[in-house]
Amino acid sequence: MRVAIIGAGISGLSTAFYLQRERPDRELLIFDANPVPGGTMCTVECDGFRFEAGGNGFLTNKPDSLQLVKDAGAEHLLLPSSELARKRFIYTDRLHRLPETPPAFLASRLLSLPQKLRVAAELFIPPRRDDGDETLQSFGYRRVGKAFTDVFLDAMTAGIYATTPGRVSVNAAFPLVVQLEREYGGLFRGMLARRKRQAGPGGILMSFRGGVGRFISHLQTVLRADWRLGVPVTGILRDVDGYRVLSAAGEEHVDQVVVSATAPAAAVMLRGLDAELASRLAAIDYSPIAVVGFGYRHLDHPLDGFGLLTTTAAGLPILGVLWDSSIFPDRAPDGSKCLRVMIGGQRNPEQMRLDEAGLLAAARAGIRVTMGVDAEPDVSFVRRWQHGIPNYPVGHLRAMDALFAHVARYPGLHLNCNAYRGIAMNDCVRNSRELAQRLCAG
Ligand SMILES: Cc1cc2nc3c(=O)[nH]c(=O)nc-3n(C[C@H](O)[C@H](O)[C@H](O)COP(=O)(O)OP(=O)(O)OC[C@H]3O[C@@H](n4cnc5c(N)ncnc54)[C@H](O)[C@@H]3O)c2cc1C
Repeated sequence: MRVAIIGAGISGLSTAFYLQRERPDRELLIFDANPVPGGTMCTVECDGFRFEAGGNGFLTNKPDSLQLVKDAGAEHLLLPSSELARKRFIYTDRLHRLPETPPAFLASRLLSLPQKLRVAAELFIPPRRDDGDETLQSFGYRRVGKAFTDVFLDAMTAGIYATTPGRVSVNAAFPLVVQLEREYGGLFRGMLARRKRQAGPGGILMSFRGGVGRFISHLQTVLRADWRLGVPVTGILRDVDGYRVLSAAGEEHVDQVVVSATAPAAAVMLRGLDAELASRLAAIDYSPIAVVGFGYRHLDHPLDGFGLLTTTAAGLPILGVLWDSSIFPDRAPDGSKCLRVMIGGQRNPEQMRLDEAGLLAAARAGIRVTMGVDAEPDVSFVRRWQHGIPNYPVGHLRAMDALFAHVARYPGLHLNCNAYRGIAMNDCVRNSRELAQRLCAG
């Protein structure tokens, strides 16, 4: 049986990995438009500095990525984040340390005393009883108040989804907090109950020696597949007993197809098969994001932490800064430092129209204001993702149920990438492993 995997990001690669592990007899064809696999998981080396073009790793609070690393025999590549990574900052009108404990929250000047009391009043706010969807903003205003939402949740949403609390569905993007409200009646009650039940440390940020690209290369070497890299798929059509995959390299008959390309790319390739399916895919919107990296041979700033996130109200041209060489010291040569600046998102989508010089200038302005760093970087790096992070607006879960019900009309055709049911690497790996299990059963 021949299976085509279209899109070799982590979703496509982990589907291929688990499928091959369970059914080595399946013949795999892996297509990607890029000459290298990995999608947004891509490490770029510049003069001794290592910049991640997208994500820098995964959290170990969910087991999926760690399990994939073990299953693929890549434990030797694991690189835990340094102790410094626990120290995080938020920029409002100045830099504040993100409080990690209740006493630190009480002492923090991020909120006023009445605003802190409003947060504490969450204990007494009755839970929402229906299962309707709402934005994170409406959830936050209801439970913890406007001030906490506009500072903490706003910064967090920029950091994870490159969007704003008013644009993201709490049910789709933060299902755990909805579960806490439903099961325990509130966030504090839920967190306390869970803390009692689950002793032990929470998750940490984990990456790979040499960057995430090293893990992608490892997956590439353990996968026995017919690789079609640098080959964009242009169409998928029905065939007798299967599908025809069309690309500039010709046409392939396959029995099953896993479309792991981004939703807009999937829409284009499925247009000829089913216009309605294509328009459902095209309706999935993304936050554009640019990543600007700077390397410094001598930098007079300690970079003593994970980095910082900004709030919308701060009105800055950057979403946040990751102090990469402090999180993972192998990202910069000895004695040197590097950082990455995130720009754009739903907060400032028009910044994606900036040319490279404009993005570099925005990043320099952002770190000047937030960190007081005005030094000329020795090395610069820019990567722009027009389809960076999929948006999960209110109604996303229902739209995905309808999308997947529609795809079910096509036996052997499967959709699988971060646009549907979870954006983090852990979500992508879990969805891919589960899909591979279904493919083995079929
Ligand atoms: C800047 C940034 C930072 C992030 N940080 C983190 C993080 O720290 N931790 C975390 O867990 N997640 C992070 N994420 C999210 C995470 O990286 C992604 O959700 C995950 O890597 C997505 O994998 P994917 O395989 O679903 O999609 P993608 O990586 O987008 O892969 C899709 C693939 O499809 C290919 N493709 C597109 N069109 C075609 C075509 N016509 N034919 C063939 N192939 C095609 C593309 O070339 C690409 O390789 C980040 C994302 C971004 C953009």
